Amino acid sequence: MNKFQNFGLSSVLFEGLERMAYTEPTPIQEQTIPLALAGRDILGSAQTGTGKTAAFMIPLIAQLLKDVQKTALVLTPTRELAAQVATFTQKLLGRKSAIETALLIGGEPMGPQLYTLKKRPRIIVGTPGRINDHIIRGSLSLNKTGVFVLDEADRMLDMGFGIQIEAIANHLPAERQTLLFSATLPAAIMRLTQTYLNNPAQVHINAGHAPATNIQQDMLNVTAETKLPELLKELDKRSGSVIIFVKTKFGAEKLSRNLRDEGHSTDFLHGDLRQNRRSKVIKNFRERKHRIMIATDVAARGLDIPHIEHVINYDLPQCPEDYIHRIGRTARAGAKGFSLCLIAPQDRRLWAAIQHMLDPKKNQRPAPERSFGERRRSGYRTGNRNGFSSQRDRAFFGERDKGPNGSSNERGAGNGDHRAGSNHQYRNRTSGAYEQRPHTNNGSSNYRAGKGNGQFSKNRRRDGAVRPARFNTGDEIDNAGKTHA
Ligand code: AMP
Repeated sequence: MNKFQNFGLSSVLFEGLERMAYTEPTPIQEQTIPLALAGRDILGSAQTGTGKTAAFMIPLIAQLLKDVQKTALVLTPTRELAAQVATFTQKLLGRKSAIETALLIGGEPMGPQLYTLKKRPRIIVGTPGRINDHIIRGSLSLNKTGVFVLDEADRMLDMGFGIQIEAIANHLPAERQTLLFSATLPAAIMRLTQTYLNNPAQVHINAGHAPATNIQQDMLNVTAETKLPELLKELDKRSGSVIIFVKTKFGAEKLSRNLRDEGHSTDFLHGDLRQNRRSKVIKNFRERKHRIMIATDVAARGLDIPHIEHVINYDLPQCPEDYIHRIGRTARAGAKGFSLCLIAPQDRRLWAAIQHMLDPKKNQRPAPERSFGERRRSGYRTGNRNGFSSQRDRAFFGERDKGPNGSSNERGAGNGDHRAGSNHQYRNRTSGAYEQRPHTNNGSSNYRAGKGNGQFSKNRRRDGAVRPARFNTGDEIDNAGKTHA
């Protein structure tokens, strides 16, 4: 029996679910929908790709159907995510619905948004900057808002939207339902929860820093010289759609040119592109007009393109948490996906930080940058000192492993459970040997947020949000926050 029936949803929503071909609720939906239908505020922690959008949109629509005076506001960190949520909403409601949805995002001309607002939309989806612009110019009134959704709240704080959220919340009625979803629950999110939510029910799905279990994660050691040739080889070996993450806008364009020169069908996405260009790139990729999309972290979150089979981290993310978000672009809705990290010697510390985040118990905090230089000078052979093989190797999480000397060291998830976080050792898939994880700690654990050489510091913003840790690169890292308001 269709479990959605247990929720007592209206026929409008049932028809919508049928249109979407959703037959069973996902775990986050199963837990969130009944609580939200009962009017509870929700603090939800869930990874991307778990069905979060329907988890808040189904009860939101149910509330609007129940009370025709009510409106709803959904805030998302990026324009792309807002557009995706708005499209989902329209699909769920169907063309004949009397409930209008408005998408209010930056980078788009005001005119069409003002026109849509005149039609008195009851669902507003947008990014904080543009929503505030409309409030200030008097084109948007929020005094009937019965449901307020903060989607990807941790990302919004990372992007510096804390103050904007506060300004928006000041215009909301005190009596309302608030649903907050966040991939992580750092202190800043808990403060946000205390400020804006009223006795929330907590829903945690796969909480913590664990990627979806159906993603096979590999790593490949490269050098500056071999990085591009190795990428080309990987692209030739793989079939299906690929998203390649790079660090900078310049890097995205350059890599796209390089791959096109080699005959690949690619396009690139970053925060400096005009919004209509960004939308077009995503649309083309969604429609498989290009096999490869090269993107900065502007595309790391929320983007739901079910046919993405491979996520390649050509450059590692600057913020370890973004690793989870990036690889979450594949293996959507239960499909199998593959991820690959290309690790150059200078990336070891970042890589170690990712390992530590995935499994703090097994992976020590990364050592200072200095140690990589030492290793590089010693011919990129890390040998027994840190258990990193001098062979070119690949990682394969969640499999039984052997030590670097070949001794059997079978552990944990030999049952085929590829859960990063449960077993972080790597298999050299080319040689078939098993190797220890390449953690870079040299025995002393002296990684400390905001301390040390300052290269991996967590900077606190005035609004209490933690800025993503950054490396100083010389080339401008794509700061999605600047371009998404
Ligand atoms: P989201 O986390 O909301 O971005 O959803 C991730 C993917 O799961 C999207 O492609 C959704 O269409 C899909 N999805 C969400 N809920 C369900 C469901 N109950 N049944 C099937 N697919 C779903």
